[in-house]
Amino acid sequence: MASKDYYSVLGVSRDADADTIKKAYRKLAMEYHPDKNPGDKAAEEKFKEIAEAYSILSDPQKRRQYDQFGSEGMRGGGAGGFDPRGFGDPFDIFREVFGGGFGDIFGMGGGGGRRAAAQRGSDLQVRLKLDLEEIGRGVSKKIKIKKQVRCEKCGGTGAKSGTSTTTCPQCQGRGEVAYRQGFFSISRTCGRCLGEGKVIEHPCSSCDGEGRVRGESTLDVEIPAGVAEGQYLTIRSAGNIGLRGGPSGDVLVIIEEKPHPHFQRHGNDILYDLNISFPQLILGDEVEVPTLGGKARITIAAGTQSGKILRMRGKGIPNLNGGGAGDQLIRITAYTPTKLGEAEKKMIRQLAEFESLYPEKADKGLFEKMREAIR
Ligand SMILES: [Zn+2]
Ligand SMILES: [Zn+2]
Repeated sequence: MASKDYYSVLGVSRDADADTIKKAYRKLAMEYHPDKNPGDKAAEEKFKEIAEAYSILSDPQKRRQYDQFGSEGMRGGGAGGFDPRGFGDPFDIFREVFGGGFGDIFGMGGGGGRRAAAQRGSDLQVRLKLDLEEIGRGVSKKIKIKKQVRCEKCGGTGAKSGTSTTTCPQCQGRGEVAYRQGFFSISRTCGRCLGEGKVIEHPCSSCDGEGRVRGESTLDVEIPAGVAEGQYLTIRSAGNIGLRGGPSGDVLVIIEEKPHPHFQRHGNDILYDLNISFPQLILGDEVEVPTLGGKARITIAAGTQSGKILRMRGKGIPNLNGGGAGDQLIRITAYTPTKLGEAEKKMIRQLAEFESLYPEKADKGLFEKMREAIR
């Protein structure tokens, strides 16, 4: 499934400002509202689509995530992924933007007086640094986060203990106030209770009536094998709690890859540079190399060229979506010694006499070699 392009859904450019996005939504939402297009399935789908797009692009945090990760985010492995929350009910978004009163124009809204939904707490982002070994096998981590938690003193209600919230006198608990304008009865969110329908006469002193306070919690996170830099997991409802008992936001755990002292990652393959001596290259040897799963021995064949890449199948990073793993690649390089004593230098000079050590001579055709031999 391809990423959805929320910008083209709303017909705005990628750098559109909040106002432009809202205007575009209003125009399209009026046009495709199901009550204006009875029985038109395509219009209904379009109405949902623009609500989804607006819910993401109108929220600065979600918009940033979307710009970075697209609507699909990380796929597979039950690891969660991008979760464009809040578009569950496109009518809620519609009401939010237009105010409840427009429901009356279209004859929807079930008698009006629907209060704004409890405000959801915001999402949190945490960065989690992992080394390649952890990525290679998957890992569980405990992450401590600071977040807004329920105020224990008032039980999240925001009202001083012994008191309770009372019905808003301004709107009689409807959360909105209606006034007439021409033929229409227009409703606006109540300014006294901000749509909640309830007011707090005596706010709780520890949370100033918010029903939440600063706190912290520890998350247990299971990271599947095969994740990569920039991917993230969504931990539902682990973020900041909403106002006065509203639902909690999510926590996004963003993966960061620590640089490794030996390995470079290329997709799911792991590259390791193995520097070995001329005698080993010429005569062959068995040497020890590190792998993600511990040490392993590999055979260097006699006559191995510098730059050759050996492949250890399946010793790389597992596929995140299951099924196999990348390889470990071992790139052979010749070690050139720089601190030699006179004795070694003397022997090297003797070796240097042999023409077979020189590529241009060693590569001569067989015929030419034979001719030289009988000269
Ligand atoms: Zn409180
Ligand atoms: Zn009110």
